[in-house]
Amino acid sequence: MATLEIKDLHVTVATEDGAKEILKGVDLTIKAGETHAIMGPNGSGKSTLAYAIAGHPKYDVTGGQVLLDGEDVLEMSVDERARAGLFLAMQYPVEVPGVSMSNFLRTAATAVRAEAPALRHWVKEVKQSMAELDIDPAFAERSVNEGFSGGEKKRHEILQLALLKPKFAVLDETDSGLDVDALRVVSEGVNRYKANGDTGVLLITHYTRILKHITPDFVHVFAGGRIVESGGAELADVLERDGYVRYTDKSESAS
Ligand code: ADP
Ligand code: MG
Ligand code: MG
Repeated sequence: MATLEIKDLHVTVATEDGAKEILKGVDLTIKAGETHAIMGPNGSGKSTLAYAIAGHPKYDVTGGQVLLDGEDVLEMSVDERARAGLFLAMQYPVEVPGVSMSNFLRTAATAVRAEAPALRHWVKEVKQSMAELDIDPAFAERSVNEGFSGGEKKRHEILQLALLKPKFAVLDETDSGLDVDALRVVSEGVNRYKANGDTGVLLITHYTRILKHITPDFVHVFAGGRIVESGGAELADVLERDGYVRYTDKSESAS
């Protein structure tokens, strides 16, 4: 069974004032079949964790480990991470002018599967996944994310998830900026992916509302660059009621 282990992860980012430590010792183990939610205030380092796992060059790992089935992820290139089964849905998906969604998806699937998907089967697969996510078929010929609304970008991220079928998916604020209907469609997409059973999900979010659609097995509170508390799904209800104040106070006095 697949396992993603994050051990005492320290990450700095280059800023105008020099390197700034953002992640200050993150420990987290996710097993296939599990959904973990990370919740925390803005600026606590949640996206930094997602980017560090995905291998974004701006984020410098200064300590700790990320292991996928015991393999050192931090030694892998971004492509190798994707082939190994890691997927990141970004908080702010990038626009790729001049590259159609259908070309982009096929290229990504070819890279991850190590061979081009058979065309007839692939076309059917894409059509079906787009229909399930309420994406207009005309989008297939549009440039990736160019001029997409926030909700359309998020649906496209989940379309990638559906087609690439990674072992582990990191979803960074996939719920942000979605209206109620889009939130339901996107959540259903994540749940279809989860139904495979042998996949793990790390759901990064600011709000509890997506957790009403996607039930987490574990909830972690993230503040000041680390996990400061962990619990079950009920922890999200406590956070909804009380907010993050007591954690941010704690992390500020500790730093
Ligand atoms: P969150 O996702 O929890 O809102 P982020 O990981 O985006 O938090 O940011 C954590 C901290 O790191 C913030 O203070 C942010 O300004 C800083 N930071 C993140 N990425 C960069 C970057 N590329 N350049 C400069 N500062 C950054
Ligand atoms: Mg933020
Ligand atoms: Mg963020």
